Amino acid sequence: GATIGILGGGQLGRMLSVAASRLGLKCAIFEPGANPPAGQVADRVFTAPYEDEAALRAFAEAVDVITYEFENIPTSALDLLESLRPIRPGRKALATSQDRILEKSFLNGIGLTTAPWAEVTDAASLDAAIAMIGTPAILKTTRLGYDGKGQARIMTPADAPAALAAMGGATAVLEGFVDFSAEISVIAARGLDGSISCFDPGENVHKSGILHTTTVPARIPPALRSDAVLVAARILNALDYVGVLGVELFVTPAGLLVNEIAPRVHNSGHWTQAGCTVDQFEQHIRAVAGWPLGDGGRYADVEMLNLIGDDVDRIPELARAKNTQIHLYGKAEAKPGRKMGHVNRIL
Ligand code: ATP
Ligand code: MG
Ligand code: MG
Repeated sequence: GATIGILGGGQLGRMLSVAASRLGLKCAIFEPGANPPAGQVADRVFTAPYEDEAALRAFAEAVDVITYEFENIPTSALDLLESLRPIRPGRKALATSQDRILEKSFLNGIGLTTAPWAEVTDAASLDAAIAMIGTPAILKTTRLGYDGKGQARIMTPADAPAALAAMGGATAVLEGFVDFSAEISVIAARGLDGSISCFDPGENVHKSGILHTTTVPARIPPALRSDAVLVAARILNALDYVGVLGVELFVTPAGLLVNEIAPRVHNSGHWTQAGCTVDQFEQHIRAVAGWPLGDGGRYADVEMLNLIGDDVDRIPELARAKNTQIHLYGKAEAKPGRKMGHVNRIL
């Protein structure tokens, strides 16, 4: 069987490795940090920084195709890897999702609506952005933000200096605050042959900027459900995408706004492990390995609950709960904000 190379050894890489193993494929992980969660289940682990060309080369030579579980891989590493093996999803998807300004420009360019936004590089451009967009607004670093990190709320123009200072000198984007009725996401897949399969939209609730629960089906009208799937399909085709993509959307009276995209399996798609014949991890492995996409049809209503930090202390209780599937990531220490596991409950 083929060997899949995965950049990043976190829980997503771990669950991708399990899915690959079930399909009789092998996995090699490339991860700079020691003892990565994926290392406990993958066939091989390459532990080296992304600057280590020899290690990158050895990793590429040990695999048939390369995918990734997070999007902030340095460009120099990608250039080297791409010269040796196919990278799926491709570079356009990575570059677009690494940078909020490129991402929003791309989305608007294919006719999709986002929150109003403007690039911010200094105090003057922030003032101009606030004058154009108004308040409340959110200032976000253009790159490297996740779980709500690198963001500052601007409730009134007086908050501008503190928000700018919170960016630490990094380029940022100001977004108008969206008064959404719900947040939903579509986990969508596109195969090597261009075929598309989307999972049912899930409804997301965040706590302190971190995903708390995803519930399917999302409580939205059927028309919005198909809109959401069409949005995802348009993005997949425009990026000539291969693999699973997460699309985060705001539901507003004016329709759907795209918040952001993630070129990988996504936390808000974990419910598919309990709700679908083929879950997002298998679907991603199928796509990058060049298999036909599987049947992503949903056969149950599910609530996914993230276990963040000390939430993992609830495991003894959750282990007794009915209709509950437990996933733990094998992380040694429960730090505040750290994703330790999740549970899928059939509703
Ligand atoms: P992720 O871990 O999903 O990558 P992130 O750090 O990239 O998170 P966002 O998804 O941009 O952050 O924002 C996190 C959450 O903050 C959103 O899911 C939403 O609840 C809220 N949020 C972000 N942008 C806006 C906005 N413009 N208007 C209202 N709420 C917002
Ligand atoms: Mg994000
Ligand atoms: Mg997000």
